Parts: sequence; structure tokens; C-alpha cells
Amino acid sequence: MPEDSVRDERLFDIEGDASARSCHRPHPESTELNRCSPLVEGEVSVMAMTTSTVPTEHWHLLDDGRVQCDVCPRACKLREGQRGLCFVRAREGDAVVLTTYGRSSGFCLDPIEKKPLNHFLPGSSVLSFGTAGCNLACRFCQNWDISKSKETDTLADAASPDVIARAADELGARSVAFTYNDPVIFLEYAADVADACRERGIKTVAVTAGYICPEPRAQLFSHIDAANVDLKAFDEDFYHHVSGAHLRDVLDTLEYLVHETDVWVEITNLLIPGKNDSDAELDAMTRWVVEHLGADVPMHFSAFHPDFKMLDVPPTPPSTLTRAREIAQGNGVQHAYTGNVHDRDGGSTRCGVCGEVVIERDWYVLGAYRLTDDGRCRSCDTPLPGRFDGPAQHWGARRVPVRLADFAGAA
Ligand code: SF4
Repeated sequence: MPEDSVRDERLFDIEGDASARSCHRPHPESTELNRCSPLVEGEVSVMAMTTSTVPTEHWHLLDDGRVQCDVCPRACKLREGQRGLCFVRAREGDAVVLTTYGRSSGFCLDPIEKKPLNHFLPGSSVLSFGTAGCNLACRFCQNWDISKSKETDTLADAASPDVIARAADELGARSVAFTYNDPVIFLEYAADVADACRERGIKTVAVTAGYICPEPRAQLFSHIDAANVDLKAFDEDFYHHVSGAHLRDVLDTLEYLVHETDVWVEITNLLIPGKNDSDAELDAMTRWVVEHLGADVPMHFSAFHPDFKMLDVPPTPPSTLTRAREIAQGNGVQHAYTGNVHDRDGGSTRCGVCGEVVIERDWYVLGAYRLTDDGRCRSCDTPLPGRFDGPAQHWGARRVPVRLADFAGAA
């Protein structure tokens, strides 16, 4: 993909869907403790001066001279020089460009269970990275320094698709994850990284809020192997006022991924006390999942920690996660998990037929593993839903920062 550099010095207001001001979830992997992107002193001033700009195709000219971005339902309408709400897509001439191609906010090796994905290459390590910006605006975002960044000084690592794939290969990672912020807003870059990974047999994972229009959605996910989709609530009012988005678009993405692609899908629901954790809402959400997606789609119920613009709400008690899991199981969700807590029962995987514990987990660490290499229960031979390829690995809970520059020279 052609690439050039431009200097960005301005921040503009935009004219978009004001009702849809939304953002990325406070994902369990994105907490302050877990955040990577260690900036190297001395690099910031250089990277802050340049971003990498490439053409995009999902936009159209309006009669009034503005250009509308068609990547996500926000539908930003841009005049010359303006940026979208996500900040990384901008109008340049009579087109919309992506300004952060090939730039990253940092790389780390993580356990795949941290995305979280419990049915995708269990125990393996995943090379994780993000860029900057977000097309949502959640008041509770725990990754806000990246997702809400309006400066390119968070983009410390130059990261071409080939170098990322090579790094993952040499580090022994089975997959690369687009995470920390939503790959929806940098889909051209994510697609090229995924293609480079496929050439080396490396899978790719999208951690996403699923707030994307149909055409770019089909384009992005045709390159992706697995996704964890954030279902923030089951209430349009919550999506509108807390995340600034629309529930229907996210549900459409879930149905599309499960029924029209080969992407392996798991769902995360972050429970915020008093906001989205009522029995009635959890009951409605999990009934919808079973009815519209099927009982085999795993659900992760994870704990909120006060952050960003939601500091007045207490952390989620573990009992809430257990209650949500029980409601989900009662409605037929076959694989419901408690997330980001120590809970062996709530974190372990059971065979849906014989009930045997087939993957024992304590948070991100695997214990006993009773699946065949192709993912069948060793007790009753029933295939476990998911993607399995070989014996379990035991990466454990380690989180290892990776410096991409160390892999750039070995072409
Ligand atoms: S991707 Fe960015 S620029 Fe495009 S509509 Fe969404 S927020 Fe606006």
C-alpha cells in the first residue's frame, strides 16, 4: 500500500452524527496495570511530527461539498482538513485518508486468554498492538490515553505489516491481535498485517466494539481469524448515553460474524454496577445470544474498574460476575465465563455433552488440559466449539513488551 508522511498540526471540529458519540470498551486486558505502549524517551518528539497517510475507499462526496466517511455508523461529514471523531481518518482533498498506517502504540506478547479468547489456540501467546484513536467515546474507557489520543506521540513504533508478521513468527506467537484500540478505524492497516501474517501461518484476532458499517465490515473480517466483540450492554439507552453508539449496529455485526463468516467469535460484557448489571438486562442479553447466535458462542463477564470519566462508580464485585454467568447458563449459554478474576470454576471450560472439565484455568493460566489436538473431549470425543490446532501451549500469564525495531533489519 502506498505510504507517505504528512505533518499534522491541527485539530478540527467535525459534523457527524452527534447522537452517536461513542467509544471503546474498558476491556479487561486494557487496564492500567496491563497497558503496554512503553514510549522510549527521545522518540516521542520525532514521532509526534509525522503520521503515515494512505488512501481509503469507504467514503462518498455529498452535494454540499463535504465528504462522508462510511466506515462506521457515525458517518462523519468532513470539510477540507477535518478529522473524524476517531481522529485517525481525515479529509485530504476530496477523499478520506487513514493517517496512522504503519504506526503503533506499542507491542506486547500476551496470553490469548487475555483478549479474552478461551476457545482459540488455548495457552498460546499473541503479539498484541494498537494504534491511536477510537470511533466510540465510552465514559468508562480504561484505555483512554490511546483510544482518545489526539496526538500522534502515542505512536512510538514504526511497524510495517511484514515486520509485525516476522516478529510474531520469530517470537513463537500463534497469532497477532489488533487491540488496545479498535481495528475498525485502521482497517486498511489491519488487513495488510493480517495478510502478511497469513503468509507465515500466523492467525489474527480483532478485539472490537463491532461498530462498523456492512461494506467495511465484510472487507475487514475477510482477513481476520477470530474476534472478541464487546457487547457493552443490552440497552439502547446505555449505548446512546454512556458509549454514544447504537446497540442495533453491534448486534448486526455479531450476527454477521457468526452466520456469514468463518471468524471464531467470543463476546465480552463488562459489567458496571448500577449501569448494565440488572438481572433483567442480563436475562434479555443472554436469551438474545442463544436465540440469534447460538448456545456455542462463549460469553465473558468481566469486572469494571473506575477510570476516565466514570470515577464515581465502584468496582464490580465478583459476585456480580458469578450472577451473570449463572443467568447465562440458565438461558442455555454453553460456555459462560467470569473474567479478570481468580475463579477456577468460572474460568474453566467444560465439555458441553459430558460435563468434564476439559480446560482448567486460573485467570490466564491453564491447568489440566483434556482435549485432543483437534479439540475433542478426551472423555466423550465431542468436539469443543472453537479453533484448536495441536497440543495446548502454556504461555501462562506473562506479558512481555516487544520492541519492533529489533525485527526491522532482518528482511
Ligand atoms: S471511522 Fe472515524 S471518520 Fe469514519 S465515520 Fe467512524 S468515527 Fe467518523
